[in-house]
Amino acid sequence: MPGRNALFVPGPTNTPDRILRAMHRAMEDHRSSSFPALTRPILSDLRRVFRTEEGQCFLFPATGTGMWEAALANTMSPGDRILASRYGQFGHLFIDCAQRLGLRVDVQDEEWGTGANPDRIEEALRADTNHEITGVLVVHNETATGVTSDIAAVRRAIDAARHPALLFVDTVSGLVSLPFEMDAWGVDAAITGSQKGFMLPAGLGLLGMSRRALAKRESARCARVFFDLGDMIAANASGYFPYTPSVPLLYGLRESLDIIFEEGLDAIHARHHRLAEGCRAAVRAWGLTLCAKEPRWASDTVSAVIVPPGIDGADVIDVAYRRYDLALGAGLGRMAGKLFRIGHLGDLNELMLLGALAGVELAMRDVGIPVTLGSGVAAAQESFRASAAPLPPRGSASPDAKPRTSPATRERMAVVR
Ligand SMILES: *Cc1c(COP(=O)(O)O)cnc(C)c1O
Repeated sequence: MPGRNALFVPGPTNTPDRILRAMHRAMEDHRSSSFPALTRPILSDLRRVFRTEEGQCFLFPATGTGMWEAALANTMSPGDRILASRYGQFGHLFIDCAQRLGLRVDVQDEEWGTGANPDRIEEALRADTNHEITGVLVVHNETATGVTSDIAAVRRAIDAARHPALLFVDTVSGLVSLPFEMDAWGVDAAITGSQKGFMLPAGLGLLGMSRRALAKRESARCARVFFDLGDMIAANASGYFPYTPSVPLLYGLRESLDIIFEEGLDAIHARHHRLAEGCRAAVRAWGLTLCAKEPRWASDTVSAVIVPPGIDGADVIDVAYRRYDLALGAGLGRMAGKLFRIGHLGDLNELMLLGALAGVELAMRDVGIPVTLGSGVAAAQESFRASAAPLPPRGSASPDAKPRTSPATRERMAVVR
C-alpha cells in the first residue's frame, strides 16, 4: 500500500527517523576500549528516566517479559509468598511468570477496567503479621484495558501496614510516557521494554532495581543464569556486558535518550495527556465507552474502546488494517472481541492521531457501528484547540524546534565522513 502504515498499537510504537539513522551502523567490537564510552552514559542517563538516584538500571537483550523474570528471580526463592493485584492480561501474565518460578501468589482480582486497590493491599499486608509476604506486584499501566494505577498510593499502603515487602512495578507501557518516580514512590523493581515509550524496536529489556532489592540477591534462591544480576553488575562496572549486547539497539537507545531529554520528561507527559484527552473526546463523540470504568483510571498511553453488542472488535481491527493500513490493538484475554485499542504513545503528534481517529471511524462504519463520520475527529480537534499552548511570536526561536540529529549523532557522522 502506498503511504505510511499508521501504527497505533500500544507497542511497538513509531521509531523516529533519528533513531533509525542512529541504529544503521556497521557492527563493532563490544569488547573494544572505546565501548564503555557508549554504555556508561547510557546506564547513568537511564537513572534520570527511571527517576532514581539510589537505584541501579540494567539493560538486557530481552523484552519486558524477561524483566519480570529477572526482577523476581534475583530477589525471590521458590516457595516465597507474594501478593499480586490483577486487573488485565499483562498482570495475569506477570503472575503466571511468578508462579512458574515457584512462588506462591496471593492474587487480588480487581474488576478489569479498574486498577490496583491500595486499601485491599494494605488490608492483606496488615493481616500478614508474620511478614511472610515478600513482594507486592502491580502493573502501572495495564495496556490490555487502558488503565493507569496510582503507584504512589500502593507505596503508601505498604508503608501504612508497616510491611517490608518489596514493590514490583511493571511500567512497560508507562515509563517515559507517564510520570514515574522510582525513588519517590519507593519502587523496588521497575520493569520495562524498549518498544513503547523509548520508541525503539523490541529487543531491550530495561530494569531499575532499588538498593533494597539488590541486597536480596544473596539470599534469593530462584535459579538464574542469563538474567543473573551479579554477572551484569560485575561487567557493567567497567562499561561492558557479560555477553554480546545488541550494538544497534544501544546506539538507538543513546539517540532515544537524547530525544527524551531534548523534549523533557514533563513536556512528554503533558503531550501524552493532551493527545489522550483528544482521543477520549472522540470516543465520547462516537457514543462509545472506554474499558476504563471511571475517568480517573483512563490511561494517557492507550485507550481501549468497547464495541457495541453484536459487533466483534476484531473485525474493526481487521478492516482498519486491510483497507486503511491502520494498525490497532486487539482485545486480549477475556477482553478478546469486546474492544479495540488505540495506542497513543511515543513519537506522536496531533495530526497523526487525527488521521488514526479518522481511520477508526471509517473501519467502524464499515463493520456496522453507526457513528457519524468526522464526529470523533471534530471532537478531538476541539479538544486540541482548547488545550493548545500559545504560539511564540513569529520568527522567534521555537522552544521545541526539532533538531534533525543530536549533537552525538552529528559527531559520529562527521567521523564517518
Ligand atoms: C507490552 C507489555 C508487556 C510485555 O512486554 P514484551 O516486551 O512484549 O515482553 C508487559 N507488560 C505491559 C504492561 C505491556 O504493555
